[in-house]
Amino acid sequence: MDVCHHSRIRCWECARVQELDERVQELEQAIREALNRMKQGGPGTRTQVQVMLERALGGTE
Ligand SMILES: [Zn+2]
Repeated sequence: MDVCHHSRIRCWECARVQELDERVQELEQAIREALNRMKQGGPGTRTQVQVMLERALGGTE
């Protein structure tokens, strides 16, 4: 059986850390995409960036 650094087999702490880490990755990705969109500029930029960020905050998958 695999044991984490807490010496636990099914560790809720490690599971939680992994969950949060994945959420951080998602948010970073959304921020990067929004920034790229802003750098492109042009018509509709503001609306599209707003939608991207709202979606990221909503976190619906
Ligand atoms: Zn652990």
